[in-house]
Amino acid sequence: MRSSQFFISTLKEAPNDAEIVSHQLMLRAGLIKRLAGGIYTWMPLGLRILRKVENILREEMNHAGAVELLMPAVQPGELWQESGRWEKYGPELLRLKDRHQRDFVVGPTHEEVITDIVRRDVKSYRQLPLHFYQIQTKFRDEIRPRFGVMRGREFLMKDGYSFHASFDDLQREYRNMFDTYTRIFTRLGLEFRAVAADTGSIGGTGSHEFHVLADSGEDALAYCSDSDYAANVELAEALAPTKPRGAAGESMRKVATPNQTRCEDVANYLGLPFEKTVKAIAVMHDEAFTLLLLRGDHTLNEIKTGKLPGLDPFRFATDAEIERFLGCQLGYIGPVGVDPAKVRIIADRTVAAMSDFICGANEAGFHLTGVNFGRDLPEPSIVADIRNVVAGDPSPDGKGVLELRRGIEVGHIFQLRTKYAEALNCSFLDENGQSQFMEMGCYGIGVTRIVGAAIEQCHDERGCIFPAAIAPFTVCIVPMGYAKSETVRTAADALYTDLQAADIDVLLDDRNERPGVLFADMELIGIPHRIVIGERGLKEGLFEYQGRRDTEAKMGPAREIIAFLKARLCAA
Ligand code: ATP
Ligand code: MG
Repeated sequence: MRSSQFFISTLKEAPNDAEIVSHQLMLRAGLIKRLAGGIYTWMPLGLRILRKVENILREEMNHAGAVELLMPAVQPGELWQESGRWEKYGPELLRLKDRHQRDFVVGPTHEEVITDIVRRDVKSYRQLPLHFYQIQTKFRDEIRPRFGVMRGREFLMKDGYSFHASFDDLQREYRNMFDTYTRIFTRLGLEFRAVAADTGSIGGTGSHEFHVLADSGEDALAYCSDSDYAANVELAEALAPTKPRGAAGESMRKVATPNQTRCEDVANYLGLPFEKTVKAIAVMHDEAFTLLLLRGDHTLNEIKTGKLPGLDPFRFATDAEIERFLGCQLGYIGPVGVDPAKVRIIADRTVAAMSDFICGANEAGFHLTGVNFGRDLPEPSIVADIRNVVAGDPSPDGKGVLELRRGIEVGHIFQLRTKYAEALNCSFLDENGQSQFMEMGCYGIGVTRIVGAAIEQCHDERGCIFPAAIAPFTVCIVPMGYAKSETVRTAADALYTDLQAADIDVLLDDRNERPGVLFADMELIGIPHRIVIGERGLKEGLFEYQGRRDTEAKMGPAREIIAFLKARLCAA
């Protein structure tokens, strides 16, 4: 491709509303343009990246035995009513009516449609297993679309759905997809990790997420270097401390802590360790009030907590409810002296092993120190794992300790089991002529999100740094004075033709701009390899090469340029 015939439109500054680097760089590099909140046009340069991602997905999915189809974006509302998700999906589901006042949705996902296809066409175990996938546009009316294409409302997803005669066979395909996703993200050139995941609202049992590692990621991941344990922090278990609770050494004292409402401040004010504090978090389930006790420096895990009996679902108590149940304002609440008939107490495993701790006194401006279970308040009736793990916690598999990284979820695989097959009556006749529901798996990759995540993982102050596999072009030729110098023009054109003949994806930047502008644009766009052609080098029979991550350019003999580039491309 020649720049003059293509469309390159870069910006010096990113628009103010772009919060994170990838969003800023995608706008600056002209990969995307915003049309409305969470809705973007993929400009020609961005689309080249997207297509390369798609091609890798398609090759690997086909190789894994899945079969591509393409389902409609607009789906009849009746199917969603039948599956029960018309009500359950909530406002993320974009609903519309046609001219006959019939309900439709713009598909956020395609379980209903694919299950409808299979229930009509597949009747016998002999036709199973099946795995259909598509690369298709989804619409989710996200409550907070943000970070550009990372959490868009309209986005491209690779979604696959498999159907099986037995759970064993579903597990085989699930493993096949786990391996396929591992190959896909390896080929994309991204640093990633697969983690065990919460199944969220889609339901089912087994589930893994694939995350691109990046400090700006929305998810925290816990993993153990001494084993293959890896889980989303949402799910990662915090084991109970192995050391038994120490004996009470202090007597309980009420101390004044004026204006100190946060555990950290209370600890500082009293000159006591932060890890000796216990915070109480007030939550409600219908009209039932519960105090959750956590060590001051720990944070609540809402997913694990929401699975406890009597807390599914829970919400945080209002100030008025806290006043009503504890007679005290937020900041000084605690578990001592509460009425067990009205207030249920759930202690985190770590808290249950604490002695001589500090907590709110249920009196504004006061805390208690030297507090002990069994003496100053009853033993907690419920002890549960309700906190997020922290770095250094023991790994739940008993091997070594946990480390934490942040990640961007780019893929998700689920064992749906028979959830949709039952809801939509998708059954088959087994070998004995018995009717059975099909076992289902579903497998998603956020195609558009991958582009943002790749930039988030790798960029510098000059712009994007794309892995070669998905860069908009692999090599760029930057001629110094293409318009002015016949020698440069001839050499650049010849090299351009040669690289094309060698099947190298090359951009010849033949725009009539200052070299500084060309260099800056090629770096901003993130092209991994750059060849500069200038009169001086040509006279000496040399070319200049610089990799996008290199700090300096290299010179080499002009006649070896193709071999040199090929070697670099293989190494990349
Ligand atoms: P999230 O927790 O990020 O909302 P999800 O659990 O809703 O994701 P899935 O329904 O499993 O996502 O969708 C499969 C993949 O589609 C996700 O792994 C993610 O990469 C991508 N994806 C989901 N929502 C969006 C979005 N709003 N914008 C871009 N990509 C998305
Ligand atoms: Mg979501």
